[in-house]
Amino acid sequence: MSEKPDYYEVLGVSRGADAEAIKKAYRNLALKYHPDRNPGDKKAEELFKEAAEAYAVLSDPDKRRSYDQFGHDGLRGAGGAGFGAYGDIFAGFGDIFRDFFGGGGGHQGPRRGQDLAYEMDIDFIEAYTGVEREISIPKEENCSACGGSGSKNGRRETCPQCRGQGQVFQGHGFIRMASTCPRCLGTGTVASDPCPECRGQGRVKVRREVTVKIPPGVDTGHRLRYQGKGDQGRQGAPPGDLFVEISVRPHEIFSRERNHVLLEKKIDMVLAALGGEIEIPSVAGPSRILEVPAGSQNGKLLRLEGQGFANPADPSRKRGDFIVALNVTTPKDLTERQKELLREFASIEEEKKGESLFSGIRRKVGEKLKNATGRRR
Ligand SMILES: [Zn+2]
Ligand SMILES: [Zn+2]
Repeated sequence: MSEKPDYYEVLGVSRGADAEAIKKAYRNLALKYHPDRNPGDKKAEELFKEAAEAYAVLSDPDKRRSYDQFGHDGLRGAGGAGFGAYGDIFAGFGDIFRDFFGGGGGHQGPRRGQDLAYEMDIDFIEAYTGVEREISIPKEENCSACGGSGSKNGRRETCPQCRGQGQVFQGHGFIRMASTCPRCLGTGTVASDPCPECRGQGRVKVRREVTVKIPPGVDTGHRLRYQGKGDQGRQGAPPGDLFVEISVRPHEIFSRERNHVLLEKKIDMVLAALGGEIEIPSVAGPSRILEVPAGSQNGKLLRLEGQGFANPADPSRKRGDFIVALNVTTPKDLTERQKELLREFASIEEEKKGESLFSGIRRKVGEKLKNATGRRR
């Protein structure tokens, strides 16, 4: 069993280091131990990988929090079953390399396709039930006319700008930053006889229909990941992912609080006092009959457990509740007869109060008398 090293020690930063310090520390280590600068050096390669792993964790706020709290155990299963198919937050090391060294250049191999982002509005009911949508997204694919080579005759020649390196260096002095060669886009070669379809790029912009499944329970701000639905990768490299950011339109009568559905229901004071049945609409499905207990006060909550929103990351987990808040209203425009009855009602209430007041006084007087007689003995 090999002990994993502490990620903060690997990068040589304090536990309170901010994102900028972590990035800087990693950048320095990555430049120092990069395989291109240390050919055949196994130790350097190992340190390089270690630094990349430490950076992947400490640069991600969620993973860093997990790691701070539970150490390496906190990272096990991250992006696993609990998060569902779109919750895979592990970006992989490719992205970091792309940031620092330019995508696909030199020894990195072909470039993975770009991730794409899409914003989607859905209805409250769709958020509740889940929905399947076909969306049209602009994406980049390999040109079919030239098979992605960018060359009409299929031949390519070494890129004159980077001399086949796929990357160009900027900056001066000790640290020079590499970036993707703008001429060959990191491939190291250019078409000798450019394909007219893609103007020698080997890539074309297309629009594609993609069917995305929105799981029940999603809410505004949720970001769903669809693996492999982004731009096609170059030269057989894996495609990027599609990220769909959800925005839920508000509903006329229902609202949402965490995973609970809230509904305000007006009832008149007679029903509140006597109790009875009310009909309430469902988010999806037929309306239902609910029992209002006698003596219900304004603001009372009636709760239908487990009938709220599902947990979008895991539909097998407990759903939220459907909560009805009673809004007790006072009748207006009364007839003479109704007023008469209410006055009678009020006078009975007065009597009841008077009685209880009187019985209270009687009890007190009785106690006093008892005490007085007790003292006399
Ligand atoms: Zn180039
Ligand atoms: Zn082409």
